[in-house]
Amino acid sequence: MRTRAAVLREYNQPWSVEEIELDPPKHNEVLVKMVASGMCHSDEHALDGHIAGLVPGPPMIGGHEGAGIVQEVGDGVDWLEPGDHVVFGFIPACGRCPSCADGHSNLCDLLATFADGTQALDGTHRHHTLDGKDLGLMCLIGTFSEHTVVNEASCIKVDKDWPLDKGCLLGCGVVTGWGSAVYSADVQPGDYVAVVGCGGIGANAVQGAAMAGARVVAAIDPVAFKREQAMEFGATHAFSSMAEAMEKLGETTWDRGYDKVIMTMGTGSAEALGQGFNLGGKRAKIVVTNLHSTSEGTINVPAIMLTMMEKQVIGSLFGSANIRKDIPRLFELYLQGKLKIDELITKTYTLDQINEGYDAMRNGENIRGVILFDQ
Ligand SMILES: [Zn+2]
Ligand SMILES: [Zn+2]
Repeated sequence: MRTRAAVLREYNQPWSVEEIELDPPKHNEVLVKMVASGMCHSDEHALDGHIAGLVPGPPMIGGHEGAGIVQEVGDGVDWLEPGDHVVFGFIPACGRCPSCADGHSNLCDLLATFADGTQALDGTHRHHTLDGKDLGLMCLIGTFSEHTVVNEASCIKVDKDWPLDKGCLLGCGVVTGWGSAVYSADVQPGDYVAVVGCGGIGANAVQGAAMAGARVVAAIDPVAFKREQAMEFGATHAFSSMAEAMEKLGETTWDRGYDKVIMTMGTGSAEALGQGFNLGGKRAKIVVTNLHSTSEGTINVPAIMLTMMEKQVIGSLFGSANIRKDIPRLFELYLQGKLKIDELITKTYTLDQINEGYDAMRNGENIRGVILFDQ
């Protein structure tokens, strides 16, 4: 069939919105008509080459935070049928590999196929340019497309009356941020928590820390709008930089330093991680959720303090969450009014306006932009 998608044709060029050819789903695959796709910073990293080697290069369909309606299932798919509503997990959960079996589906072995951009199981492509070139997929899903074919492992079935235009954000940003606080940082009632970077991920880390009972949630971001928004999501303090947070460390944390520091910047850096590390107190967990460039070979932390203060630096992927449990769970918390999602969506766009949406993200205007597809 023919459909339309936003394609990365060349690094550092705008997304090209174009017609593509899409094959029917094969074994264990599903054809999904997209309803909505979040515009996450990681697609920007794919576009600028910062995560080259982790995701396929051009030509590639972007997008990894989406939700839609099943149109057709391939053979072997017996738990989904046309008309079912699904949220995609940007990391699939096969349910069979050691990580999935151990309750860490965020590290599912199917991650190993990310860089190829092919279908997860047979290494071939379903998406092609009109002139016959194979198109890679961002995170095995490619949500910047009106239709896509994905492996069933990427699909989480949700109730049909749940709003997919909001739930799409559960596929990356909400779960990643919330889980960074609740699972990776293991925020406890009364903790002092700092969240560094308050975009789509950080706002949810703030929300998760507040929900877990933190005493102080300091939101650190250079953009005033994001600091204001963070206060709405449960922050108790806001600082424009880590240097400012360090100046106020005594009065904010009773001279203890933060128990949890969660790094959720647009792009991490060795220097920033060092600053975040220094905000942590004794036995602090420093959670690294933001991506560093694949070209950055080292981190910069004063190692003596690892020992002397028993600090811990912890990597966090997809919020250390289990999507089959956590996507429905967070969706229900949203429906109960306990988790904010509406407030994350600053603006919606059509697929044709995708570059406008990314310009706004670069300018710090959006917590999250969301593409709504014609229905
Ligand atoms: Zn993302
Ligand atoms: Zn798995």
